[in-house]
Amino acid sequence: MDTIKSVFAENVFNDTVMKERLPKETYKQLQRTIKEGRHLDNAVANVVANAMKDWAIEKGATHFTHWFQPMTGVTAEKHDSFITPTDDGRVILEFSGKELIQGEPDASSFPSGGLRATFEARGYTAWDATSYAFIKEKTLCIPTAFCSYGGEALDKKTPLLRSMEAINRQTLRVLRLFGDTEVTSVKTTVGPEQEYFLVEKEMFDKRPDLIYTGRTLFGAKSPKGQELDDHYFGTIKTRVAAFMEELDEELWKLGVLAKTEHNEVAPAQHELAPVFTTTNIATDHNQLTMELMQRIAKKHGLVCLLHEKPFAGVNGSGKHNNWSISTNTGKNLLDPGDTPHENAQFLLFLCAVIQAVDDYQDLLRISVASAGNDHRLGANEAPPAIVSVFLGTELTEILEAIEKDEQYGTKEKELWKVGVHTLPRFQKDATDRNRTSPFAFTGNKFEFRMLGSSDSISGANIVLNTAVAESLSQFADALEQSADFNGTLHDLIRSTIKKHRRIIFNGNGYDEKWVAEAEKRGLLNLRTTPDCLPYFIKEKNVDLFTRHKVFSETEIRARYEILLENYSKILNIEAVTMLDMANKDLLPAYSAYARQLSETVNAKKAAAPDVDCTFETERLRQVSALCGDMYRKTQALEDTLLNLVQKDFGELERAQYYQGTVFHAMTELRIVADELESVTDRSFYPYPNYGDLLFGVR
Ligand code: ADP
Ligand code: MG
Repeated sequence: MDTIKSVFAENVFNDTVMKERLPKETYKQLQRTIKEGRHLDNAVANVVANAMKDWAIEKGATHFTHWFQPMTGVTAEKHDSFITPTDDGRVILEFSGKELIQGEPDASSFPSGGLRATFEARGYTAWDATSYAFIKEKTLCIPTAFCSYGGEALDKKTPLLRSMEAINRQTLRVLRLFGDTEVTSVKTTVGPEQEYFLVEKEMFDKRPDLIYTGRTLFGAKSPKGQELDDHYFGTIKTRVAAFMEELDEELWKLGVLAKTEHNEVAPAQHELAPVFTTTNIATDHNQLTMELMQRIAKKHGLVCLLHEKPFAGVNGSGKHNNWSISTNTGKNLLDPGDTPHENAQFLLFLCAVIQAVDDYQDLLRISVASAGNDHRLGANEAPPAIVSVFLGTELTEILEAIEKDEQYGTKEKELWKVGVHTLPRFQKDATDRNRTSPFAFTGNKFEFRMLGSSDSISGANIVLNTAVAESLSQFADALEQSADFNGTLHDLIRSTIKKHRRIIFNGNGYDEKWVAEAEKRGLLNLRTTPDCLPYFIKEKNVDLFTRHKVFSETEIRARYEILLENYSKILNIEAVTMLDMANKDLLPAYSAYARQLSETVNAKKAAAPDVDCTFETERLRQVSALCGDMYRKTQALEDTLLNLVQKDFGELERAQYYQGTVFHAMTELRIVADELESVTDRSFYPYPNYGDLLFGVR
């Protein structure tokens, strides 16, 4: 524990460092900027920048960068050194307030969905003072937002900050109505649990599919998979333990609260969970975690796979976004509390979330949509693509009692009345058992479980924050206009449950019957990315985002285009990689095996004409027939890509074509190829196989 204490946040310019290094007045002014979002004037910025620079240089930094999160899913940085030449040919180390606050990366190649014409291609980065600067690889990293000169968000952080602002505004309105005059700001909190795979680097380097696409595009099942569940929480192998130890330490230095590391269900699969923190910091930290996982794995001769579905037939990787709302006075608004008053407030916030999830199922689905995640959702390893809320029996029964004006439990003789009665204490254990729900209440927070492992968590939280802000604003409107607070509150809760009860589902989300049941309830089942993306630009969704100033309509349209384009690009790379592997490695390998078989037959017959060649001839026939089939499937896949060139598709049609036609041809090709693998002499297979990859790390 001592080591954690001594290294924790040692590379972060956090509050303690600021207090230590900034003049009192500067510190105070900076705090006002951080806590209240006040403008930071240049003189103050200069002092802060200078202190940051001195601190960073003492820690061995030579460069600084504005660290931002463009629409690519990774983070971006452009390094500048602190060096400024002097007249006498020497250098001094400088870093000004202006350089701290604003940057102009020449970042014209990041996707902008047409928001920037090339003549005004430069966007600018602006310091997010609410997220601490840190040192990574000898570089002082300044967390920033990335915008166009017109002020349009070109990144994932700007809208996240706006959505936090939106939920802050509406929550404060509601809290005031409950008589709270103390709380001055609320923030949503997030703890994202991150799954990943580790494979041997030497083997990774031999697989073009892993190199180019992050997942295996071919590969027959190994004799053993995850069926014994013996990897889950199993003993961690020495090399993996060494990786985890270094990862934890490096994360701690950056102030990331990495807490638990364990093995997951699939062989070679692991998970890291941090302690929760404010949403924008949790987002920065999750990006850093993913980056460090990949970098540190390499140092241990491993590769960290963050793809949602690296291997067919074994579980893929996701991310659980644990989410709640917390006040600056330290109260968790999704904690039921102990008094009837606290309970009433809790129920209203609970209803706000239920309504938000029901009204914006489509946006929540979109927030986790990616080509990779399409392989997981609904495949009995992750929640279905249908969004629903799990509350647990106890809480559901209470809500039903309120809805129907019935009595709850055996002890209560009276009807359960909001604001009058005390809720029973919900045990976390009682509420957390259902692992199949996409959106589960787990005692004092919600766990959104549909996210893909490589996703930035910003998208999901932008939607959650904004949708809940919308419910809260409607509730606040109703309560502000009412003369009878408790009566209106009770009615609001009742009517919300009545209207949105269809979204509550406590059963098994993996059960096929749920699909039919959900359809009956009128819930959306948007299976693939091209299925759900068109909902992004629906009027009700555009209205939501613009009303709460999270996205402008232009920004939504730009994002919609980027997401579609990205989907098509990923499928195209996958298809082309498959063709490359089939044509250059796999077909030649299987054909060589066929040749060996036929040479064996000839040699055996020459040696002894009556020798039994059943195996060789039968296998030769089988392999040759399958090779013919595989060749035709390869041609068919190639044709789907060639046909596309002649089509005059818009972005949506193109994505749909990839999802339907191209993906179908890929699946067909894989089926034959994997069958061939399973009947071919191992020594002919040109790549490390599933067994090697999944059980190779020792
Ligand atoms: P487990 O799911 O393993 O039983 P927990 O439910 O305690 O563990 O925590 C899972 C994740 O939820 C952790 O990352 C934790 O920090 C996070 N978490 C706990 N409370 C909150 C909260 N109020 N807001 C956001 N995340 C939270
Ligand atoms: Mg959990």
